[in-house]
Amino acid sequence: MTTTEIPCRFCSKNGGVIRHGYSPNGFQRFRCLDCQRTFQLDYCYEACKPGMKKRIVGMVAANYGIRKTGCYLKVACNTVLKNIKTSGKQ
Ligand SMILES: [Zn+2]
Repeated sequence: MTTTEIPCRFCSKNGGVIRHGYSPNGFQRFRCLDCQRTFQLDYCYEACKPGMKKRIVGMVAANYGIRKTGCYLKVACNTVLKNIKTSGKQ
């Protein structure tokens, strides 16, 4: 078990992240020892990348349509709708 200097995606702590195998798509997965959550540095799907929820909500708030937002960010329309619905719960 070796720790790496990659900051955690969720709690932003350094030094407590270990390698946690590979995803089915071949990307290296990491696990944070503090918050016990797993993440990847790169994702195959655009919707899973960090900061995408904020971009979707920002574009819809700037009066872009759902279809145009999905087409521009390369995510599905249902992903845009789901992020809009869950953005108020945070
Ligand atoms: Zn963490």
